[in-house]
Amino acid sequence: MTDSKYLIRIDRSTIRRNPDYSKPINIQGRSELIVTFYGDIPEDLESKFIIISSEHSWDTTVITAIASGDINDAIDYLNKLDPYKFAFDLTKKNNIITFDYCGSEFLYLYEHPFFVTCKRCKSSFDYKRLKSDITELCGYYASSDMVCPVCSMWNCVDIEFEKLDSVL
Ligand SMILES: [Zn+2]
Repeated sequence: MTDSKYLIRIDRSTIRRNPDYSKPINIQGRSELIVTFYGDIPEDLESKFIIISSEHSWDTTVITAIASGDINDAIDYLNKLDPYKFAFDLTKKNNIITFDYCGSEFLYLYEHPFFVTCKRCKSSFDYKRLKSDITELCGYYASSDMVCPVCSMWNCVDIEFEKLDSVL
């Protein structure tokens, strides 16, 4: 057994600014289908919709519901309703989520190849060949990202990755 710890350095020549750092990004969020019934609602409405509000006025009831699953399923369902029996309006809302991309300000690679030696079987190999493993025992999970590719020992090497702060 050896206690030696490997320090894998950042390859200085690969450091560059991330061109996408802190740019706003638009992402298509989940679309919503909202239906408003004026008067009666179908008995099985809640198989496809979640009722979000109901307002009663002197002559009618207005029920607003949102599709709970696939929007096309919900539209099919509404198309099959008897138009003489149910009066409703449909609204589709496309939710666009905007957020600032908060990736790293810099991109870089670690020096490679870099050979390390397994504490148990003494095999030498490039650190990129290290494997990951996860195991579960009575509901508890344990994992290692330093599994020897030869003898499968967990935490078979001690590796420290250089931090960017110490380079800039
Ligand atoms: Zn080994």
